Amino acid sequence: MKCSICGTVIDCIETAIDAGWIPYFYDGETEHEYACPGCSETVLQVGQAGEMEVRSEYQGKIVYQDAESKDCHWVMGIEVRSESQDN
Ligand SMILES: [Zn+2]
Repeated sequence: MKCSICGTVIDCIETAIDAGWIPYFYDGETEHEYACPGCSETVLQVGQAGEMEVRSEYQGKIVYQDAESKDCHWVMGIEVRSESQDN
């Protein structure tokens, strides 16, 4: 798993949970996966619903590491090939 905020990667999920990684959090309405203990301590807080959320002073200011990989799926161009068949 990879921290959405700083990009730190940790291999073992059990180790990550023990170390205090956050499995998901919200930036406003947007859900993001995984925050490492360092980032969660700095930019996250427990919201009214008991969910982890980005502190108001950081909302909209974080460049998320998880955004790139999601974009890749639909940025890939569709190549249209016209093939003429000669019989
Ligand atoms: Zn982090």
